[in-house]
Amino acid sequence: MSTIFSRIVDGEIPARVVYEDETTVAFLDANPMSPGHTLVIPKSEFERLNDVPDDVASDLYASIHRLVPVVEDAVDADASTVAFNNGEAAGQEVPHVHCHIIPRFDGDGGGPIHMVAG
Ligand code: C5P
Repeated sequence: MSTIFSRIVDGEIPARVVYEDETTVAFLDANPMSPGHTLVIPKSEFERLNDVPDDVASDLYASIHRLVPVVEDAVDADASTVAFNNGEAAGQEVPHVHCHIIPRFDGDGGGPIHMVAG
């Protein structure tokens, strides 16, 4: 059974894709925490960062590094929170590694976005 993100990669589920290369894809989060909230994923299915081989990790980081300024510029953000929920206890809901790029704005409350429930 493919993850919902693999189905996005395969074009079976629509998503607003903002970047794609041989090994990674980035698309807008369907439930954004702020305007421009973007997810960056490896096209191959790995549940956690712990499972990602070095070459894929390197490609994933390269895409994140490339996209952070692009996402910030696109929504005129002042900063961004860049984060992985790595495992269920950390709040990971989709079992397919993904990096959140969440644009942040002066006056949006400051501090990190807390993803810890409760
Ligand atoms: O890190 P976590 O697994 O909790 O985040 C999953 C993210 O995937 C959520 O922000 C959710 O809005 C997003 N999502 C999405 N499109 C889907 C399913 C989930 O953007 N079809």
